[in-house]
Amino acid sequence: MTHVNGLPWTAKPLLKFAGNALAAGAAKQRICVINYHRVLKDPHPLLPSEPDVETFHWQMALLARCFNVLPLREALARIDTNDLPPRSVCITFDDGYSAVHDLALPILRKFELPATVFVTSGHLGHNMMWNDRIMEAVQVLPMERLDLSEFGLSDYPLRTLSERRATLAALTEQSKYLPAFKRRELVKQLELMTKDHPVPGQMLTPNMVRVLDRHGIEIGAHTVTHPILTSLDDESAEKEISVSKQELEAILDKPVQLFAYPNGKVGKDYDARHVEMVRRAGFTAAFTTAIGAITKEQDRFQLPRSRPWDRTPFMFGLRLLRWMAQGQPR
Ligand SMILES: [Zn+2]
Repeated sequence: MTHVNGLPWTAKPLLKFAGNALAAGAAKQRICVINYHRVLKDPHPLLPSEPDVETFHWQMALLARCFNVLPLREALARIDTNDLPPRSVCITFDDGYSAVHDLALPILRKFELPATVFVTSGHLGHNMMWNDRIMEAVQVLPMERLDLSEFGLSDYPLRTLSERRATLAALTEQSKYLPAFKRRELVKQLELMTKDHPVPGQMLTPNMVRVLDRHGIEIGAHTVTHPILTSLDDESAEKEISVSKQELEAILDKPVQLFAYPNGKVGKDYDARHVEMVRRAGFTAAFTTAIGAITKEQDRFQLPRSRPWDRTPFMFGLRLLRWMAQGQPR
């Protein structure tokens, strides 16, 4: 098949034409970095915004046909020498889910697309991150309301799927800012309430990290335990940043040069202190979750990344071009 499912035949030349026009005008020399987390085997009722394999497939097909997908470090080197092709895009994944190895890698290889994976080194070989343990629990909790006042949180409804979705979103967001020990207690408590629903391992193993590396997927660091850096004292934050680099370098036997801030909201999840720590640790670039495109003038240690949320290929492509036109995050 030579066309992307759902992409009208006029869309490819249109996206290319608009992208070239942007690159020839005020929006030249810009990179859009797409930020995924995982790819799902099947659509998940509580994770409506995560792509399933089919969705990820058309997204990669679209990128391969209408954009120029570059390895992240190559794109950064080429922006320095004004040598970027028009419609430059990079692909990244955060956290280190095994689905990147199992489900995304075969599709990336099929379209010969490079990517970068930002790995939370302390979760390697482990079953799940805390947010996924909350998600699994919220999915199966047997009650109609969840009272978490003992954790300083509220009372959450669980009667319908949409209530469970809203509860999951609120609970995840609020838990991010709890002290780590309190969050551990909360997760344990939720799992007790679900009465044993074992779920298979979801995170990359060290060996999978080496396989990704062998296939040209760059490995970047994403701290050891994925804390909100601003909630830590400076010494702990510095350790989270530098130890994640060392642990990944020990697995790969090569330098790890790129870093992504956990959660990545500018000024909220990290601040100027952490930017300095990342620089000091020896990284060459770092990424946020601000919406926009990379321009040459930006701080190399606070580069924007985001993922188009649109459901059709044309709108997905158009949003990338809109970010290209916008440039600097607002
Ligand atoms: Zn993350």
